[in-house]
Amino acid sequence: MNQFVNIYKINDNSLKIAKDYVLRNIPFGFPTETVYGLGANAFSSEAVKRIFELKGRPQDNPLIVHVHPEYDLDKLVFDNPTAKKLREAFLPGPLTMVYKSKGVVSPLVCRGLDTLAIRIPKHEGALKILKYLDLPIAAPSANKSKHTSPVTAEHVYEDFGLEVPLIFDGGRSQGGIESTVLDVTGDVPIVLRKGLITAEMIKKVVGECRYAEDGESLMKRSPGTRYSHYKPKTNTKLFKADEIDLLIEFYDRLRSQGKTALILCEEKVVGRVGKRSCFSLGSDGETMANRLYYGLREGEKYDYLLGVDFLLDDEVKLGVANRFLKAFAE
Ligand code: AMP
Ligand code: MG
Repeated sequence: MNQFVNIYKINDNSLKIAKDYVLRNIPFGFPTETVYGLGANAFSSEAVKRIFELKGRPQDNPLIVHVHPEYDLDKLVFDNPTAKKLREAFLPGPLTMVYKSKGVVSPLVCRGLDTLAIRIPKHEGALKILKYLDLPIAAPSANKSKHTSPVTAEHVYEDFGLEVPLIFDGGRSQGGIESTVLDVTGDVPIVLRKGLITAEMIKKVVGECRYAEDGESLMKRSPGTRYSHYKPKTNTKLFKADEIDLLIEFYDRLRSQGKTALILCEEKVVGRVGKRSCFSLGSDGETMANRLYYGLREGEKYDYLLGVDFLLDDEVKLGVANRFLKAFAE
């Protein structure tokens, strides 16, 4: 039994409750292998509107639709051979693809775009839920807009409390950062949001792939990249990797003022900060992705969270750094 009344294990009983909420257009929280989602029936404008209201999400930021692997995508979008190859290679998994939409889901999902982003998650619990409901489920991350994304059911509870009456608990999300978003509507697939599936991995399957350049055109194509994001609810300060002396000085000054602080850094920095409180992100990109949001949320228990920047020496770290820098942006 969980201490929170609205957090449920995934079983026949909670699945029935979910169906009831979905039919009444009430969003529910659920685990995926990337982060936790706040889901609702993508066909229902009332349900989708409720997601935006609950999150306080900017009106022009479209949602990703989640389906199970047997769901017939032709009902929702125009498919193409590149997308098919990529589905065979990577899905179910942390890759969202943007297709030409058939316009059958609520127009509030795509917010004026003629495309639709679809993801088939790999998490066993997510698949159970999606198969049971057998509907396209529109779902952004289950956090209040701008806040750090959730990787546990308790994180979802921290943001919404009883506003979300059903939160499925599927353990801690292992991927740890949101899915890669890939536009497959043109000749060359374009990564709109970096994630665990990298451009190099996509290139190996379909020959070509590139990262969208940051700037105004990316913001139009993927409005979510426009907004400030992932901010933990505490004071933050970012240090460069070669500023460890400054970091130590800052940390010790805070402590002498009676304030608490947590350092969020790569494993190799841990040994350089002595006995000071530290949350290690690990060393490789995948481990850093897995630990990032958990570490940012841990930081909220302290007066200050002090981040140490890191080198982009593997491709997954591009996605980690994107979130890390936004979380620490002034
Ligand atoms: P979130 O739901 O917070 O994980 O954010 C969803 C991300 O997917 C945002 O960055 C959106 O801009 C992006 N996205 C969703 N639908 C589309 C679409 N049709 N075209 C391009 N990007 C999309
Ligand atoms: Mg989000």
